[in-house]
Amino acid sequence: MDNAVDYRELLDACMAAALRTKGRGRVADYIPALAREDAESFGMALATVEGEVHGVGDWERPFSIQSISKLLTLILALAEGGETELWERVGREPSGNPFNSLIQLETEHGIPRNPFINAGAIVVTDRLHSLTDGHAADMVVDFLRAESGNEALRTDAEVAASEAEHGHRNAALAHFIASHGNLVNEVDTVLAEYYAHCAITASCADLARTGLVLARHGLRADGTRLLTRSEAKRINAILLTCGTYDAAGDFAYRVGLPGKSGVGGGILAVLPGRAAVCAWGPALDPAGNSVAAAAALDTFTTLSGWSVF
Ligand code: GLN
Repeated sequence: MDNAVDYRELLDACMAAALRTKGRGRVADYIPALAREDAESFGMALATVEGEVHGVGDWERPFSIQSISKLLTLILALAEGGETELWERVGREPSGNPFNSLIQLETEHGIPRNPFINAGAIVVTDRLHSLTDGHAADMVVDFLRAESGNEALRTDAEVAASEAEHGHRNAALAHFIASHGNLVNEVDTVLAEYYAHCAITASCADLARTGLVLARHGLRADGTRLLTRSEAKRINAILLTCGTYDAAGDFAYRVGLPGKSGVGGGILAVLPGRAAVCAWGPALDPAGNSVAAAAALDTFTTLSGWSVF
């Protein structure tokens, strides 16, 4: 970043851009706990590899991380089990379809297109469940706690139960994948783990601090190596091409950073070698990405010049 850019001014400008999206998008309403969120809430946090953390708005307020957890399960599955088996079971191509689509699974024989659509994340969760003796979601919580320093961070049991109750489509995906022999564990067990990690609540500050693992090319907050440089590079590449689903092209065009969204309204983006930034606003565009968070990140990279391009 240009040294003349002031973090406070920059984050204020991002928030102003987010607030200008007022009235656009819709809060996720497939479960009551998410539908209760105020469409106009907004927060954003920037964590640098030097250890500075800056925030604006509701940057310390916990929200439902939802599909941002898919990034964490991928990181942990690769760290625990390596690449070979995982990439035999999940692809690495953008899907061009909605995150919960069933369509490609049939023609592609139960091998999901990528780890960030629901189908792919269910397979990654299955893999992590096997690698952790049944503690996939616990491992995600522990990882977030360790990287963010926030010991209070947890799974919201009400959200997890509600996801399970309304999870017909995810159950359909999981059963279809299982019918092709691409789940090792019981469908219900894998789904329970998947809902438990989607239902974790964390703040922009917690997620930005955790995203630094990718910004530091695989190093954890305590300086130990979790991923090889090459694994971190590869995860960032998949984030750029698949992290915001069928809107990944538009997100790359506007923001120019690898990023992962969730229907709770968060987007976590990575600036390799420099920082991680997380923005949150509950109203979503038709692809399921936060309208306010995308506008804030667009402004962030436009004003700071911090993008991968
Ligand atoms: N829990 C949500 C689901 O499984 C996550 C979707 C999302 O955040 N895009 O549908």
